[in-house]
Amino acid sequence: MSASSVCTPAQMSWHEMADAVLNDQTLMRDDALRILRADDDDVLAILDAAYRVRRQYFGKTVQLYYLKNAKSGLCPEDCTYCSQSKISEAPIEKYAMLNAERLLDGARKAAESKSRTYCIVASGRGPTDREVDHVASVVRQIKDQYGLHICCCLGLLKPEQAVKLKDAGVDRVNHNLNTSERFHDEICTTHTFKDRLETLDVCRNAGLELCAGMIVGMGEVHDDVVDVAMKLAELQVESIPINFLNSIDGTPLQSVHELDPRFCLKVLAMFRLTNPKAELRIAGGREVNLRSMQAMGLYAANSMFVSDYLTTPGQKAEEDFRMIADLGFEITAGDYESSKLLDLWNAS
Ligand code: SF4
Repeated sequence: MSASSVCTPAQMSWHEMADAVLNDQTLMRDDALRILRADDDDVLAILDAAYRVRRQYFGKTVQLYYLKNAKSGLCPEDCTYCSQSKISEAPIEKYAMLNAERLLDGARKAAESKSRTYCIVASGRGPTDREVDHVASVVRQIKDQYGLHICCCLGLLKPEQAVKLKDAGVDRVNHNLNTSERFHDEICTTHTFKDRLETLDVCRNAGLELCAGMIVGMGEVHDDVVDVAMKLAELQVESIPINFLNSIDGTPLQSVHELDPRFCLKVLAMFRLTNPKAELRIAGGREVNLRSMQAMGLYAANSMFVSDYLTTPGQKAEEDFRMIADLGFEITAGDYESSKLLDLWNAS
């Protein structure tokens, strides 16, 4: 059946879904749900549809992101998935905002691991004005020395804080929706879904790009996952990180293990087809949930984190480079040329 044939959305094949998206049609909610509910036998066909869209907008490029946990633990919020919350008993390192030297050292490592973007992440409900001033001052130095893109994830922001970050050269702010509006109160009671939307609004008004995604596998239903995808499409966010719950001992979700790699691939494909032009990143939980199928996730996503996550270790950068090379994809590196890891990459 051709793309121009008359068909109800429920009758579209996966291939026709890709045709429709490539023709700038918006994927209907029912189609997005069909992807998540599809039989595992359809995973390759669904991934093929997602890859056609990915290839159209991002070719074979992969963007790497490097995270720095600038302030760890000590958070008064009660997000059930998070090892840094006040209700977590996870034995993590806890420290206040890192000094400029440590943050600059993180920027150097980001550049050396071919990351295009350095993500400065701080625990907490939101930053103090002093913390924002500190981050703004370090960002100016990072921009001078490494030319990296900068994404800040500092919690709920006030309008004047967002403007300060923008003025300092911050390119983007990350503030995840985490889950649907319906499910939000199940995972956090100390702030609301609306609070999260307001921070995204504040950042957009300050001229910052938006990075917002979700954590899949916290007990939500398929409708919730689709709700998030649709909301992010409506907000036209530039960047979507998809985390797959890595249940951390000591958190309320420590016993939740709902995901399998095939479902994770369907989720990534659904986000690609609902948000075709957004940068789609495989974020936390990649190694433990996609396992041997990590590489296949990059047929839908065009970006991933390299090295460690906030409080959990990631795969070695060298293994990520090998995986990307094996796919025949190429890293869109930052402006800074590092010596050792670039050599390693060139030799692979
Ligand atoms: S606000 Fe952030 S750091 Fe605090 S508990 Fe929630 S996710 Fe963790």
